[in-house]
Amino acid sequence: MIAVIAGGVGAARMLAGLRQVVAESELTAIINTGDDMVLHGLHISPDIDTITYTLADAVNPETGWGLKGETWQAMESLERYGGQTWFSLGDRDLATHMYRTQRFSEGATLAEVTAEVALAWGLDISMVPMTNDRVETMVTLTSGEEISFQDYFVARQHSVPVSSVRFAGAEASTPSPGVLDTIEGADKIVIAPSNPLVSIDPVLAVPGIRAAIEARRGDVVAVSPIIAGAALKGPADRLLNELGHEASVSGVAQLYRDLARVLVIDHVDADQAAAIAAAGMESVAAESIMKTPEIAKQLAQVALDA
Ligand code: GDP
Ligand code: CA
Repeated sequence: MIAVIAGGVGAARMLAGLRQVVAESELTAIINTGDDMVLHGLHISPDIDTITYTLADAVNPETGWGLKGETWQAMESLERYGGQTWFSLGDRDLATHMYRTQRFSEGATLAEVTAEVALAWGLDISMVPMTNDRVETMVTLTSGEEISFQDYFVARQHSVPVSSVRFAGAEASTPSPGVLDTIEGADKIVIAPSNPLVSIDPVLAVPGIRAAIEARRGDVVAVSPIIAGAALKGPADRLLNELGHEASVSGVAQLYRDLARVLVIDHVDADQAAAIAAAGMESVAAESIMKTPEIAKQLAQVALDA
């Protein structure tokens, strides 16, 4: 079994590569829920949904999130009332959040609902939220204001400088059932090319998860989300700089050195192997921008062979 520590888009692409190399039933994704929020009374789990839709071949290829062929009539109707339309929820996507919320009201846990939704989309992969408890990624701006992750990411389009990030509720949370056993028993653990500070760190903040991964360091491989000093998308590079890290593969190595033995980097960063070694990790270079299923498959193979 292969365990994958997962955020959203970067992790979804990695998992789509991995399932071409190993059976879907051999994969367990342990997924960030720090981005989750309640809006319109509905519980929304953006990273879980991004992975589900991607693996179901139903994701919007332009955005990497949401459903393809989506319509927006509910949002248009909401606009009439002056409702909250800053976080776009498509008509079909809304059904996922409605179902999840209803199941919560019936007493189901997030892990149970996530498994039900994955099954309904025909997936054989184990999709596991990092915790069933509420953990909220909170972002403090240099102005001193603290805002929710989606306020930062979506409403302010991650264009405001950040001074710190915290995961509210993490200390009191517990990993969802099976997470620690999965990490202990996995043949290999892959840290997906997700944002280290707001996608991977919240997973590690759930008590027990970081230590469990560190105990498996020899079998852990991380794939860098940073290529040539930049994120492919989103604020990972800026956040690294703003929070005192280096936006480079060696900066990523410094963050992951206690967790993973090997860092998979892009060929363009191959000249940084010595800096990565100095930071305490081995490195392997590969083509790492997963713009085709074939490239994602090759990257997955490299990660598993590392
Ligand atoms: P989000 O939760 O949807 O924002 O996504 P993640 O945290 O999973 O991923 C965002 C990160 O994924 C960004 O830093 C990107 O650079 C990285 N990423 C996205 N696609 C790829 C890819 O094809 N290859 C690599 N190496 N990184 C990627
Ligand atoms: Ca996310």
